[in-house]
Amino acid sequence: MREQSCCSVCSKRTSKGIYVLNVFLCHECEQEMVNTPVEDPKYQFFVDQMSKAHHQSMIVS
Ligand SMILES: [Zn+2]
Repeated sequence: MREQSCCSVCSKRTSKGIYVLNVFLCHECEQEMVNTPVEDPKYQFFVDQMSKAHHQSMIVS
């Protein structure tokens, strides 16, 4: 059984996802992000969530 991680965007715990810049994204959020145009405000939301989570991981480590 794979270890579960908490998605940085939707906070869901799942083993299905990827790490981007040490930030975990679940499969659903990853798919949503790749299908969101850069000019969409939602894309900025993803970027914000990820940079926040990345910043936190820098403080922890
Ligand atoms: Zn997610």
